[in-house]
Amino acid sequence: MTTTRTAPLIRTELPGPRAREVLDRDLAVTSRSLPRAYPLVPRRGRGCVIEDVDGNLFLDFNAGIAVNSTGHAHPGVVAAIREQSGELLHYSASDFYLPIYSRMCRALADTAPIDGPVRVFLTNSGAEAVEGALKLVRHATGRPYVISFFGAFHGRSYGAVTLTASKAKYHKGFGPLLPGVVHAPYGSDATFDHIENVLFRHQVPADEVAAVFVEPIQGEGGYLVPPPGWLARLRELCDRHGILLVADEVQSGAGRTGKMWAIEHTGVRPDVLISAKGLASGLPLGAFLARAELMESWGAGAHGSTYGGSPVPCAAGLATLAAIEEEGLLANATAVGDRLLTGLRALRARHPGLVVDVRGVGLMIGVEFDTAEHAEAVQQEAFERGLLVLECGESSIRLSPPLVVTAEEADTALRLFADAVDAVAG
Ligand code: PLP
Repeated sequence: MTTTRTAPLIRTELPGPRAREVLDRDLAVTSRSLPRAYPLVPRRGRGCVIEDVDGNLFLDFNAGIAVNSTGHAHPGVVAAIREQSGELLHYSASDFYLPIYSRMCRALADTAPIDGPVRVFLTNSGAEAVEGALKLVRHATGRPYVISFFGAFHGRSYGAVTLTASKAKYHKGFGPLLPGVVHAPYGSDATFDHIENVLFRHQVPADEVAAVFVEPIQGEGGYLVPPPGWLARLRELCDRHGILLVADEVQSGAGRTGKMWAIEHTGVRPDVLISAKGLASGLPLGAFLARAELMESWGAGAHGSTYGGSPVPCAAGLATLAAIEEEGLLANATAVGDRLLTGLRALRARHPGLVVDVRGVGLMIGVEFDTAEHAEAVQQEAFERGLLVLECGESSIRLSPPLVVTAEEADTALRLFADAVDAVAG
């Protein structure tokens, strides 16, 4: 495949002829529930570049939705996958002692921003990790209720989708959801007023609340960064009532914000931390990490997973953690993220009516538009110019490139994004 420097390169109309064949086949056979954004048909990837089935090259500022943290086909990750595949493809770590499983758990535990000893459970996805954490906090506290936030996205299985409150469509037709979950406003003083004066007074006694589930930066809800001190106040509220604090870092973690975990920017220590996207650079691997005493409170058989922490995803996970450290990807995420934020703020200054906010930390950047239609139009214009970005929230676009993105690629992306915005501005 051509080097990253040649992207973007759009040789055909979009979708191209081969892409249209895939689209026809796909639309005839796949579930209608899949929320496709635009007709990208990826064939292969290197670094920050995706080549589609017609040979068009795109600059990938989605990273497979914040998943390909070390870039596409990172040589170290690919080598680790190849080597592990030749040794052992699968053995259930729930039932036996897989060496690479505990190595991955140890490597993750060593990164945890959690006080005291930490234990780890590995999963296949974010939603599975959220479900496990939900079971853990209820089991460990003996308390039935859980609080999460409006705008939150925690996944699509029943417990995770009940915690989710970003868009009503995620609940439509699926009720009744899991009992015992209530929501509060995110990221403002209203959070504390609502929890203390509405929830605790009218809906859920504080001493029966097991946990608060929070994204340190809301992802699907719009890449919203809470104000300084907000998470510390939440921690303090939890401590006052014996409630556990669960940080869902499925989107914000694994180095995306320039620290391994976004909550590290605040100094707040959660009791449980959930991770998935980015952890194995594209292979299905999730995890929930908890204070050891919580995971020592449930016994054998209380929770398990046939595939969770399977050897090949663990090999990819260990190679990902090694690449993040050895290649200085956290520092790169901070530096390139700052460059992107500066460029996007200049763009906002040029289009103050259209671009209403630019926010983010590291390579987790949101650009909010005045309307959902404008956000969608910019997403489409960017695609046609060879830049892959994705909507989030009501009217925002997220930029979440691989952590290996270069300053040069960031400048190209800024130019393409500005062209897309200019086109929409008319
Ligand atoms: N939690 C957060 C914060 C997420 O952003 C997502 C997915 O976007 C999930 C959980 C669910 O992860 P998965 O899609 O791997 O089930």
